[in-house]
Amino acid sequence: MDIKHTQLLINGEWVAASDRSHTTLINPASEEPLCDVATATPQDVAAAVASSRAAFDSGPWSKLDGGARAKLLWKVADLVERDAAEIARLETMNQGKPIFESAKIEVPFVASLFRYYAGWADKLEGETIPVVPGFLNYTLREPVGVVGMIIPWNFPLLLTVWKLAPALAAGCAAVIKPSELTPLTALKLGALCLEAGIPAGVVNVVPGRGSVAGQALLEAKGVDKIAFTGSTEVGRTVMRSAAGTIKRISLELGGKSPNIVFADAKLDAAANGACSGIFYNKGEVCAAGSRLFVERRVHDEFVELVKSKMARYTPGDPLDDKTRLGPQVSRAHRDSILRRVEDGVREGAQVAIGGKAASVNGKGFYLEPTVLTAVTNDLSVAREEIFGPVLCVIPFDDENEAVKVANESAYGLASGVWTQDTGRAHRVAAALKAGTVWINTYNVYHPASPFGGYKESGFGRELGAQALDMYLEKKSVWVSMR
Ligand code: NAD
Ligand code: MN
Repeated sequence: MDIKHTQLLINGEWVAASDRSHTTLINPASEEPLCDVATATPQDVAAAVASSRAAFDSGPWSKLDGGARAKLLWKVADLVERDAAEIARLETMNQGKPIFESAKIEVPFVASLFRYYAGWADKLEGETIPVVPGFLNYTLREPVGVVGMIIPWNFPLLLTVWKLAPALAAGCAAVIKPSELTPLTALKLGALCLEAGIPAGVVNVVPGRGSVAGQALLEAKGVDKIAFTGSTEVGRTVMRSAAGTIKRISLELGGKSPNIVFADAKLDAAANGACSGIFYNKGEVCAAGSRLFVERRVHDEFVELVKSKMARYTPGDPLDDKTRLGPQVSRAHRDSILRRVEDGVREGAQVAIGGKAASVNGKGFYLEPTVLTAVTNDLSVAREEIFGPVLCVIPFDDENEAVKVANESAYGLASGVWTQDTGRAHRVAAALKAGTVWINTYNVYHPASPFGGYKESGFGRELGAQALDMYLEKKSVWVSMR
């Protein structure tokens, strides 16, 4: 496949890194080099920030009204659809996710996000506030300015657009720092934004290393806000670094989400949900239902049911549209998952199925889909994010215990509840400390429904109307009528 955009996008131009350095991307399915991508230096990041700054402060972007921005966002959505097949292939070849996911779910989601936020662009209204006689008080909602977007490798395009679409609707300019492992679809998106007519400098894309390009973005004076998705560990660095210039920040971090199955649930549907909850995107999902709580009296039966569904997740070529389990993103990540499984077994967990490296035609950073039983919530596999296709099963005896143990986690991103008792479903939903609760389903998303974390899973909400607030300031204007 001909990969067109492998340079940095700065101020509407495709440029090499200032020191000519580049990174060779590896296709995780074939283990072969995919292409070389320019690796941004701190100087490149500074140039991108200056370009976004100018576009925001004085460029044509700053003079567009909401309706004009909406039109451009609609155009980007149309171009994403025009090139959908190419974008999906790029994402799958770079990341390893099954083409079913990139083509049928994620690229369409991206187009719908641009349209959803296009709808908001001309509806960012302020309010008039009754104060005291003799004064008029009203509010203006203004774009926060230049936004640095730091993106992980698990949903390279989708998580970029979770940020970019509301930021552009609000009138901000963006410097996007994709993961060094998976920059291709963000670069392609930059090209589509230009083609749509979004002015040069409004969207800059600078792939590079986190500790170099990412850190430069965190410290840059011209950046007003950082929108970060990634690990909790790097999230702490973001908080510390942003303190220097009091940047606004939003953090979407890790998770260890509980998926709770009561004995009265429709067990067949719950088993399907348990599998898609952990095997979608080979478990490289922040919201993965990685702790499966099962009511003890159906535990053995349910584990067998889950195992019976797993043939569907046999490792396969991610470009084959029948494949539902692709390779992990990199060899290093695959090996780290294996080490965590070994730790779990050493601590007392049992491998019910899987647990080993795998390959397809002798190649690829694959893992067997894995279920660990005899897990207790204090084991490392139940406490730490594994970020792979590893399901940890924890039995429980009653509702109170399930909620209590589910909440015993540093994280609070997502959760699932499976039961036919509606009272219990809503009681448990209210009691779980998590930003999302899925009842009798798992892993469903929509542009209009907010997503984000409690506790060490971060703060701020992406998607929905409230995501716009992260890209807007509110100004209070007082008028004397005396
Ligand atoms: P990561 O934290 O290692 O990296 C995320 C991004 O931060 C990358 O672009 C990286 O280059 C950059 N980065 C790393 N060090 C940096 C530094 N010192 N300064 C600035 N930037 C830096 O995460 P990852 O390994 O790419 O992705 C996996 C993690 O992301 C998991 O923990 C997962 O849970 C989390 N995640 C969370 C969500 C969510 O919405 N909550 C979604 C997806 C992934
Ligand atoms: Mn990482």
